[in-house]
Formats: sequence, structure tokens, C-alpha cells
Amino acid sequence: MTEVEYESRGVPLEDYQLTRRDHRNQKQIEAPNRWGEERAKEARAREQADPEITRRKHEAFRQAWELLQKFKKPEHEIMRWRVRLYCGHITETRRHREVATPTTHSPYSMRCPECEKDPSMIVAYEPIGLAAEPPPPPPKAAPPPPPPTRNPTRAQLERRIAALEEENRHLRSQEAAEDQDF
Ligand SMILES: [Zn+2]
Repeated sequence: MTEVEYESRGVPLEDYQLTRRDHRNQKQIEAPNRWGEERAKEARAREQADPEITRRKHEAFRQAWELLQKFKKPEHEIMRWRVRLYCGHITETRRHREVATPTTHSPYSMRCPECEKDPSMIVAYEPIGLAAEPPPPPPKAAPPPPPPTRNPTRAQLERRIAALEEENRHLRSQEAAEDQDF
């Protein structure tokens, strides 16, 4: 399984000063629908900059994401995160273990279980640990038996002996020839 280096942002349990970015992001996701009919055309042209569209996209994404979470994952694949929300409450959330922060590929806001502010931005976070210990790896399979040593067949042995005898005879006749030279 992929090793993930979990990241933190701020220290949720310590005093946290909301940044200008936090305020801006929170405002963007809770922007009320204030675009009238006649302004819709205008708004479309500025779609990228429209906070309402951003809010709706975020909301649609969050709903789809929450649906997806209903497909139960094994607990050991779940990372628990301590999060501080925009409203100042500290709570816990869960993400798949392969994401390095609770705001990667997932909504960066949630419904606060304390004050019920919805949505409330995640402004600081730190990993707590996996929801369950990973199961032990399956026992290793026994190593394959060594290939059987092949005993030479009788015919192979006979051929080998014949070859050795032939070599000997050759050597002996050479020695005899050399002896005669002296
Ligand atoms: Zn709250």
C-alpha cells in the first residue's frame, strides 16, 4: 500500500487566529443566492469569479462526495483527523488513508456537530491515526521445493565411462610413444 506523509495545518487544539483567506473562503461557500433573473446573463459571463457558482459547485461536490462515503471502506483504510472549523469548534473527521490532508480531493468544509453551522470551513487540521490497525500480512507461502536432482540414466553413465576409457587409452598410447623416443 502507498505510504503517505500526512500533513498538518496549524494546531487545531491551540489558539487559532482565522486568516483573511479563511474568512474569504467561508464567505464564498456560504454566499446567499443574490443573483436576480436579469443579472443571470451578466453572471454567466463572469462565471469564474461568481461566488454563488463556486458555492453551488462546492455543494454539489460535497453531496456527491458524501454519497460516495456511504460505500463502506474497511476501517484500516481510514485516517482520522482532528480538525478546527471556522466556527471555532474542534471535531474529528475521517478520510481515506491515501490522502495527505483532509482537504485533498474532499470538501474543505463540513457541518459542525457542535453548533450545527453548515457549512463550516476546515481551518486547521492534524492527523490522529488510522481508525483500525491494518490486518497482519497473510502468512508467507512455503518456499518452492528445490528441483529434484536428476540422477544420470544408466545409458548416460555407460557413455561417460566409455568416453573416459577412450581418453585413458589415448593417453597411455601417447606415453608409450614418448617412451620409445628415449
Ligand atoms: Zn461549530
